[in-house]
Amino acid sequence: MSKSATIKAVRGMNDILPTDSALWLKVERICAQIFSQHSYAQIRTPLIESTHLFARSIGADTDIVSKEMYTFADRNGDSLTLRPEGTASTVRAGIENGLFYNQQQRLWYVGPMFRHERPQKGRYRQFYQIGVECYGWSTPDIEAEVLSISHKVFQTLGLGRTNLQINSLGDSDARGRYREALVKYLSDCKEQLDEDSQRRLETNPLRILDSKNQDTQALLKEAPSILNYLSEESAKSFSDLQLYLNDLGVPFTINSKLVRGLDYYNDTVFEWVNEDFGAQSTVCGGGRYDRMVEQLGGKATPAFGFAMGLERLVQILQEQEADIAIEGDSADVFLISVGASARRQMIKLQSNLVSAGLNVQCHMGEGSMKNQFKRADKSGAKIAIIIGEEEAEKNSANIKILRRTDNPLAQQAVLQNDAPNMVTNLLKSL
Ligand code: ATP
Ligand code: MG
Repeated sequence: MSKSATIKAVRGMNDILPTDSALWLKVERICAQIFSQHSYAQIRTPLIESTHLFARSIGADTDIVSKEMYTFADRNGDSLTLRPEGTASTVRAGIENGLFYNQQQRLWYVGPMFRHERPQKGRYRQFYQIGVECYGWSTPDIEAEVLSISHKVFQTLGLGRTNLQINSLGDSDARGRYREALVKYLSDCKEQLDEDSQRRLETNPLRILDSKNQDTQALLKEAPSILNYLSEESAKSFSDLQLYLNDLGVPFTINSKLVRGLDYYNDTVFEWVNEDFGAQSTVCGGGRYDRMVEQLGGKATPAFGFAMGLERLVQILQEQEADIAIEGDSADVFLISVGASARRQMIKLQSNLVSAGLNVQCHMGEGSMKNQFKRADKSGAKIAIIIGEEEAEKNSANIKILRRTDNPLAQQAVLQNDAPNMVTNLLKSL
């Protein structure tokens, strides 16, 4: 590489720039608030885990483990992996810290995940997920709570045209019997299946239902439905969940081909799918994974959760031009100063205004009064505070309301010490 070649971000890994980050923050804040209103506590786990963790929990035949993980040997030769999802890490942390020991847990997380996929709209190599996980409940009431949370998040954000699909994968007995029926059905048309699906017919036939290949999907039209293989218990639980969803006013459709791309699920699985976003239309997916805690060495603990893809969510909101008020993207007050002693006072005044809860932007460095006013106007601030050389001598300042000619208080002198109160009241009246 020549010395002057510019360095670019790694393919599939995005910068989130100031034009977008306000919306990101808003989405994260709304999620955090709705989660905490439902008594969920945040958990933060490392970005890097032992490779075994994912191989053992997600399933060796999944796309993630077979071809998408960022796996490397560290300096000691240990095999480590950048986390491709958040559930396995949450379970690992829960077992390691005794969180499941005679306790129930409602948890949430947010952060970047890494998968070596082909980058395209809505599909990146580093992407953010925000998710919730519940441990210790085997009943459908917790499932209704979790689904209601995702619904509330979308409602609050004004996300439209995004529909809930649910399915039940039953217990392992049911899946065993269904697997046989599905293999029998597909064996007759094996030659017409896509290459991946042909292989999966031997290794993991249920995953064929998740195939994105159109021809394979067409072949599956008349395939047997897993819902006809459920145990009485699974069927009751699935129908109870539907009662709760009806009570909550959360619309859903049943999609008996929904299996999700990870091997760890049993019974209820679900996805929220946007109608307009094209191929990468799943914004949120999740389900029940009662075996994972035990599989990773803990005491058997029922579990239920979801993960939302934040890039897709933010992009859909932007495409829908959802009307989300974004606070904090422009200052309330812009500070202008002329001369060295005025600048010292301005820096201190900014600190005092911020302490009073205001959003403040200072003009830094030299600049003519005219120039500084131009910047004040551009900043979007409602009020400018000016400290000139004369004001500096008296520890005072001029307050000017920007972009309003009709206001009788268009400009007013005030002592700097009184400015925080004065400005706070003034802003209320604007
Ligand atoms: P898909 O079928 O779209 O690949 P998935 O089944 O692999 O999704 P999960 O592992 O369940 O998805 O992750 C939950 C959510 O995270 C997805 O619904 C999606 O919104 C988001 N997501 C998954 N992979 C990516 C990616 N590579 N880039 C951006 N978002 C992603
Ligand atoms: Mg995927």
